[in-house]
Parts: sequence; C-alpha cells; structure tokens
Amino acid sequence: MQTNLASWIADTPQGIEADAILRKCVHCGFCLATCPTYQLLGDELDSPRGRIYLMKQMLEGAEPTQTTQLHLDRCLTCRACESTCPSGVQYGRLADIGREVVELRVPRTAWDSLRRKVLKSLLPNTALFAFGLALGRVFKPLLPASLAKKVPAKRDAGAWPAARHARKMLVLDGCVQPAMAPSINAAAARVLDRLGVSLIVAPSAGCCGAIPQHLSDAEQSHAFIKRNIDAWWPHIRAGCEAVVVTASGCGTMVAEYGHILRGDPAYAEKAQLVSALFRDISQVIAAESTALSRLLAAKSAPAQKLAFHSPCSLQHGLQIKGVVEGLLRDAGYLLTAVPDGHLCCGSAGTYSLLQSELSQQLLANKVKALESGAPDLVATANIGCLAHIESGLNASSAKPIRHWIELIDERLAG
Ligand code: SF4
Ligand code: SF4
Repeated sequence: MQTNLASWIADTPQGIEADAILRKCVHCGFCLATCPTYQLLGDELDSPRGRIYLMKQMLEGAEPTQTTQLHLDRCLTCRACESTCPSGVQYGRLADIGREVVELRVPRTAWDSLRRKVLKSLLPNTALFAFGLALGRVFKPLLPASLAKKVPAKRDAGAWPAARHARKMLVLDGCVQPAMAPSINAAAARVLDRLGVSLIVAPSAGCCGAIPQHLSDAEQSHAFIKRNIDAWWPHIRAGCEAVVVTASGCGTMVAEYGHILRGDPAYAEKAQLVSALFRDISQVIAAESTALSRLLAAKSAPAQKLAFHSPCSLQHGLQIKGVVEGLLRDAGYLLTAVPDGHLCCGSAGTYSLLQSELSQQLLANKVKALESGAPDLVATANIGCLAHIESGLNASSAKPIRHWIELIDERLAG
C-alpha cells in the first residue's frame, strides 16, 4: 500500500521500519481468518488488517485515540497473522512501534496505569514473584475459586548435573519460570547432560525483556536485554556454543536482541551474536536426535495419549513447526489431534491479566480442543501457556500438563 509517514517519525529508525512493513501490506485480508480476536469479536478493527490501518493513520499524522489504544491492547501479538500473510508483513514489529507511539500519546486510566506498573515491577523480579507465589500457595484454600485455579502446584526441580562436559551451552533462567517451574530448566540440563552437553546458568541474567516490551516500556526492556548480554558475554567468549531458551515466548525475544539493539553502538554487535547463538530447546534436542533415539531405545515406551499445545511464540514467532511433536512421537507418546492448533490459548504474556474476558474465552476454546482427543496428559513449550492452560484444565478434567522436555527427562530416567 502507499504510505506518507508524518515528518515526526518518517526519518527515524522506527519510521523507516514501519514504512517498509506498511508498504508490504496489500490489504488482501487473508490474515483475518486466522486472527483469534477477529474470530471472537467480528470487528475489522480487531483484525490484523484493521489494526494495520489504524497504525498507518496514526503514523501518517492522525492523532491516536482511546479507540486506537483499545484495538491495539486487544491484540495478543500471537503473530498468527504473520504465518498466514502471503506478503510477509511483519505485523509483530509494526505493533511494537505502534504501541510505543500510543503509549506516549494516549493517557491511560489511573487503574490501568497502576496495574501495568505493578505487573512491570512484580513479574520480572524473580524473588518478589516467588514470594507472592509462595503466599498464594499457602493461602490457596482460602482464595476464591477463580483465583485459586491460577496458583500452580509446586514442582520440585530435582538435581542439576555438574558441568562436566567440554561442550557447554548457556540457558536463560528468565523471571517467572524459576519460581513457577524450576523443573523445566533442570530437566533440560539433565537431558543435555546425557547427550554430552553441560547447561550453564549465568546468575545475573534474568527477565528476557518481553514483559516490559509487552507493556510498551522500551527503556526497561532494553535495560534487561543489556543486563543479560553482560551476564552471558564472558561465557560466550569462553566457548559456550548456544544460548538455549526453554520458554518459547522468551525465545522470540532473545532471537530479536540483535534487531532491537541494532542502533546501540556499545551493544549492537554483541546483541547480533547472542541472537545468532539463540536456540529453542527443541532445536538443540532435535540436532541430537540420533543420540537421543539410542538412549530412548533402552527404555520402555509410555504408551500414553498426549495432546501437544504448540505456543504461538513457537509456531508463529520462531516458525518452529512439528519439531516437538516429532520428538514426543519418537519418545513413544501417541499424539492426539488438536483442532485449531494455530490459535492462541489466551495467555500471551500479560494479556491474560489485562484482557481477562477475551483471554478466558480463548482458554475455554483451547481446553476443549486439547481435551477433544481424550489425552492422558497435555504438553506445551512455554511457561506462560503452561500456567494458563493448567488453570483451565484444573477447572475442567484436571488432566496434568507438563513442559515437553520434562517428559523426555522422565523417559530417560526410566
Ligand atoms: S494477509 Fe498480509 S497483506 Fe493481506 S491484509 Fe493481512 S497483513 Fe496485509
Ligand atoms: S497478532 Fe494475533 S491477535 Fe494480533 S492481529 Fe495478528 S493474529 Fe490478530
């Protein structure tokens, strides 16, 4: 489409990027069919094409309004539209630029500002979040059912193997995952240890930067990214061969570090290298699949029916499709069909907390789809989806849900 960006943004890095993205959109509307919010609300302004149009108007000089803010807030940033778009429109990047502009120009209500501030302070702070979660677990019996179902059960991490191998990889610990499910990274470390790779945590790394980015706080997000790069850099220089991420939502962020800091003279090069070294855990395990198959051959198959939820960040953000499913089949699980597997579960970072009505509708649809094949258990690849779907399963069939790497770990442990 033709564009004519306003002078206040046209020549900035954001303006140049937004202009290139907007020009690719041919308004065909193919993306509407796969957009979860358009499916639920049926309003063109809650579709990718409608949101692109709103952002175009704003970047061409129209003053953004509460309506612009509402429709951008309702977007999950699931990026299903990117998977569908025949023109390669990078909607997610455009939405980040659009949201930053709206955040600066459209005031939020006092309540909305307060809850966004609380989320920005609480979620990326692992110690504070762990304390809140521990309190939630203690008082769970006293909480209303709607809140109690959101408090996940405690999961013990188990042993973390000593760093005994010449091959070493870094792993992102992140912010909420160490408190909610320390078992996930520990399972990854045990599986990789059996495959001849030691997994290392850099203690001063933390939140990948996605939470403040979801809340349109680029400054805090960039500060978190730089802290992680500083924490990982000595290990990278010492020969760590990859930066592994077990939460696909965080993975999409680390994959973008190079792009996000491309204009930062002190960090641009390092950020590029970190993004080049980034691997989702499924990519790392798939690369070792021959050795893994040998190890699995000595164990008995579980013969359990499993429904896999592929997070949007995995299938649309990282474009990793079918890899985890293949690994789970190789490990002996019988995968059930999951209708509408391309649709978001409604977790989407802070979305489940800020847009709870839409999020709950998406969750109900997702739980129904996952349960439709009568699985014995459910697996996924992202802590946010795991916790969100667990709350839906708790209120329904109470089927267990695990990160898929925990299942591989259990299989290898026999
Ligand atoms: S599918 Fe792509 S080109 Fe078509 S309207 Fe959607 S974003 Fe634009
Ligand atoms: S990111 Fe998801 S919710 Fe947002 S416009 Fe695209 S498909 Fe719709």
